[in-house]
Amino acid sequence: MGSNIINLSDNAEFNKAVGELRQINTGIIRHYYIYTFGCQMNVHDSEILSGILSECGFHPSPKAENADVILINTCCIRDHAEQKTLGLLGTLKELKAQNPSLVIGIIGCMTQQLDFAKKIKAKFPYVDIILGTNCADKLPAAVLNAYTVEDSKKRRTLYHDDNDSSIIENAPVKRSRSVTSWLNIMYGCNNFCTYCIVPYVRGRERSRSPEAILREVKELAENGTKEITLLGQNVNSYGKELDYSFARLIREINKVDGIERIRFMTSHPKDISDELISAFGECEKLCEHLHLPLQSGSDKILKDMNRKYDFAKYSEITKKLRQTQPAIEISTDIIVGFPGETDDDFKRTLDAVEEMRFSFAFMFAYSPRNGTKAAAMENQIPNALKKERLNTLIAKQNEISAQISSEYIGKTVEILSEGRVSDEDEDAVDKTKQMGRTRTNKKVYFVGDDDTSGKILHAKINNSVSVTLGGEIV
Ligand code: SF4
Repeated sequence: MGSNIINLSDNAEFNKAVGELRQINTGIIRHYYIYTFGCQMNVHDSEILSGILSECGFHPSPKAENADVILINTCCIRDHAEQKTLGLLGTLKELKAQNPSLVIGIIGCMTQQLDFAKKIKAKFPYVDIILGTNCADKLPAAVLNAYTVEDSKKRRTLYHDDNDSSIIENAPVKRSRSVTSWLNIMYGCNNFCTYCIVPYVRGRERSRSPEAILREVKELAENGTKEITLLGQNVNSYGKELDYSFARLIREINKVDGIERIRFMTSHPKDISDELISAFGECEKLCEHLHLPLQSGSDKILKDMNRKYDFAKYSEITKKLRQTQPAIEISTDIIVGFPGETDDDFKRTLDAVEEMRFSFAFMFAYSPRNGTKAAAMENQIPNALKKERLNTLIAKQNEISAQISSEYIGKTVEILSEGRVSDEDEDAVDKTKQMGRTRTNKKVYFVGDDDTSGKILHAKINNSVSVTLGGEIV
């Protein structure tokens, strides 16, 4: 099945609704606010939703309380995400009572689960818009409907993407950052890891055309982007249906003037090709950092997770990567307490962490996701044991991360400055400082009078705290 390309620049329905909303908003300042849960892909999806609402004449609001349109961009991958969304809806009910013309919408992964969408419809009648993933093209018409239709039942739009093959092109994007930009290169996933809901809510893998991606990369470079992060659930399988490899895409982006750095995430070890490993040695803009989820050090657990590699294969990939690019740092994701995980399986994970020396790890206790195979497995691990194992793992990994960071002290490293630290930067103790990232993806905080945003600088590192560094510009 080919991809269904929805080109927003010549999509009559989309442009008609955008035009009508602009008309309605002429002479009036109306605001929008978006709550975003989840991963970088969701954060970037919210940048697209912001771009679309801005096209429609809405302005961003720093607070939900002042907004005329509130969207919740949901995620169903992590723990308690549904409860968080439902709790938030409870809070928004009060805002709707104070302002009946407020438009409230829920969008993203969670709404793609039909039982959730039905629950919202039945229990939260004040929610006007429920849109599945890949449905951003329907947003202007849904907002317009909510604004202009009197009958409260008809105000509501419920749209679920059954097709699973859509790719939206030429969407307006309002990026939260300009020096570093995210860019989707593909959507969906074919892997069906037994713990993961993504293939059920984001559909099968489909890649954007290399021409569309390169056009966007060039536009971003012209607008000041220095660093691109290519996004997808499994970027290593980019282009399979187009007969165009991910490594080739990186080599092409490496030629784009103005782009200084290339990153990508997330990778699946089973799809890392020798061609991609070679790109780390050939492409000078490809940064020396790879996020490569291991998930477990036990082959039995990896098999039960349907990860399609064993630890020996993972270890072989990292060796090849380190031979090709000795400066590379590898970060990872690990789940502890997967169903059936024994003390011995967990010890293998601890041993793997010791052996791999990851620069950083996202570490989670397994939590069942409805509709996945692992949720129905026997031998679920008690919560207390999961927590104990997670704490043990975190302590070990934190020690390794801190050791790796401390090895930077006294060295001078290249950083790309992102300028003054933002209020959202939880790692920044001193908000008056500026921050830049090393090519290995470590944050470096430094003092500087002039805003250095977008400049490639060199910093001498004089301290480290956990995974972050402090230094002075030399
Ligand atoms: S590769 Fe596995 S964990 Fe990653 S999105 Fe696909 S199914 Fe989920």
